[in-house]
Amino acid sequence: MRNKKLYLVIPCYNEEEVLPETAMRLKEKLTELERKQKIDEGSRILFVNDGSRDRTWEIIRTLHEEDPCFGGINLSRNRGHQNALLAGLMTAKEYADMVISMDADLQDDINAVDDMIDKYLEGIDIVYGVRSSRKKDTFFKRATAEGFYKMMNTMGANTVFNHADYRLMSRRALEGLSRFQEVNLFLRGIVPMIGFSWDVVYYERGERFAGESKYPFGKMISFAVEGITSLSTRPIRMITGLGFIIFLVSIGILIYSLVRHYMGATIVGWTTLMVSVWAIGGLILLSLGVVGEYVGKIYLETKSRPRYIIEEILNQEK
Ligand code: UDP
Ligand code: MG
Repeated sequence: MRNKKLYLVIPCYNEEEVLPETAMRLKEKLTELERKQKIDEGSRILFVNDGSRDRTWEIIRTLHEEDPCFGGINLSRNRGHQNALLAGLMTAKEYADMVISMDADLQDDINAVDDMIDKYLEGIDIVYGVRSSRKKDTFFKRATAEGFYKMMNTMGANTVFNHADYRLMSRRALEGLSRFQEVNLFLRGIVPMIGFSWDVVYYERGERFAGESKYPFGKMISFAVEGITSLSTRPIRMITGLGFIIFLVSIGILIYSLVRHYMGATIVGWTTLMVSVWAIGGLILLSLGVVGEYVGKIYLETKSRPRYIIEEILNQEK
């Protein structure tokens, strides 16, 4: 029988509107799970404050003072969802046997937690929460998010389709995760690389019950670029392939212009020339951009900056 102390890890960025409600619902869930003896006593809810500018940290502190089942981590500044999540996971792995991560807005149905824990008890190390539908998301969010997964996969970043960062990980899976030293963090892509047995649990994605999305379109795009360039070098290979094809085309054009030359028709349209100059120029810039992206990554990785800095931890463990 596996040990079953659970930690729920919740990254929070400017979530004062949802936190009290979220805390209440999670506490209810925790009590229910303890009553059913699915988890051990001393299981906790750990909020990570990702440098919020509102009252989020004060709320977490009050929750902790009123009830030790709530813990908190305060990051020194805003580091983004992925780093906040990592800070929570790495702290939780010191105390917990299994850790479930989810968003503060509870868009991911918390009742899927039961199934996740059942799988864990069967011996599975990583359980991914997968959205069975996105009916509640706006059309725009759904289209961009699903396009995002498809693009990621064709670009060589293999992720579980329609899985965000709602997942259960056992302590040894987290130990494995801690050995990935990369600074450009894309957890959804790294977690499958850890290995161990895994499974999925399906759930319906709901609406944010208060506040607004902290992931606007711009952030999603940069998240996608981050994901692709930090996980795979396929875009570079695609550029190389493109360069090769263009080279073949240019040989064709060379032969064509020689033939035209010997036929005496030397002035081949200005238009063609302009178009190709622009096309090639554009392609070169594009390629440079992609290469630059990776060079920038190397630059950042060689600095091996800390991925997060904790200012304070609230947790009562013996
Ligand atoms: N979040 C964070 N740091 C950030 C942005 C977001 O910790 O810089 C957290 C946020 O508080 C939430 C989770 O990441 O718990 C997901 O954000 P959100 O629900 O706004 O994203 P969406 O569901 O719209 O994709
Ligand atoms: Mg959300």
